[in-house]
Amino acid sequence: MSNVLEVTNLNTSFWTPEGDVNAVSNVSFTIQRGETLGIVGESGSGKSQIFMSIMGLLASNGRATGSVKVTGTEILGVTTAELNKIRGARMSMIFQDPMTSLNPYLTVRRQMTEVLMTHKGMTEKEATEASIRMLDQVQIPEARRRINMHPHEFSGGMRQRVMIAMALLCGPELLIADEPTTALDVTVQAQILDLLSQLRRDNGMAIALITHDLGVIAGLADRVMVMYAGAVAEKGSVRDIFKRPQHPYTEGLLRSMPRLDESGINRLATIGGQPPNLQNLPSGCSFRERCPYAFDRCASERPALRESGGAGRAKACHLDEIGAVRQTKIGVVA
Ligand code: SF4
Ligand code: MG
Repeated sequence: MSNVLEVTNLNTSFWTPEGDVNAVSNVSFTIQRGETLGIVGESGSGKSQIFMSIMGLLASNGRATGSVKVTGTEILGVTTAELNKIRGARMSMIFQDPMTSLNPYLTVRRQMTEVLMTHKGMTEKEATEASIRMLDQVQIPEARRRINMHPHEFSGGMRQRVMIAMALLCGPELLIADEPTTALDVTVQAQILDLLSQLRRDNGMAIALITHDLGVIAGLADRVMVMYAGAVAEKGSVRDIFKRPQHPYTEGLLRSMPRLDESGINRLATIGGQPPNLQNLPSGCSFRERCPYAFDRCASERPALRESGGAGRAKACHLDEIGAVRQTKIGVVA
């Protein structure tokens, strides 16, 4: 299988008067054609900044180093003109707030046709027909009439679909979706996720799905990368990670997923404490102040990400196995 996205040793930092903030530390991963990688973590874990770096959308005090290849072409450090050719055509991004990428003052028709006329050299008539077909594909009813509306005339869920249609216009090979359903109610959320999964099937796109919600990951992703304090804590297939998390942070995230227990009560455990200040990371493991399994070595040595158990699994934790340590250290039988 071919890699649509190949990220190697990505480091992203922001200059501030108080010193650099390392938002992304040494992150590497790939996404293949037709595959969905879920990127999960709390806010501030660096998950969005990875993709802002890839899209060339970092704030002006930000800087990214390393390598990012989209279908084999290096895009980190290329000129804005070169990046513009790849953005929209080969990769595009959708956001939690559709108004981030939609212009409130222009009709949807104007915004969509302009993209196609610029990138694909279509006439206005061809571009209008292609835009209507795309709105149909994301299930906007009465697309031929609605295409003449302004973004604010659509409901929240419909506006999200319009943004997805815009992002898909040029048939990108990579779609980056940053919390695409967070602001929507549960029913609409499910519809949008179904839509993304159908579009992936039909178009063979690779999807990077950024979310703080493991439930969303479970529904759509093939593999997961768990981010903590700017670094990868753990990665592996969705099935493996949900069944047997190897990093205490992942275990905490899974425990904090809402579920019904036998008595029908919705229990929600949370991970105690706060993520560390990226400007002033603790020594050793950056999770240690919140980790129920922390031991001496965790304070002195930062755990490197290493392969763990095959099938693409890796973790950054000194523990050999969570269950075994739970028995020996804490005296509780797992
Ligand atoms: Fe916890 Fe230590 Fe593993 Fe960090 S390295 S997650 S502190 S056990
Ligand atoms: Mg974010």
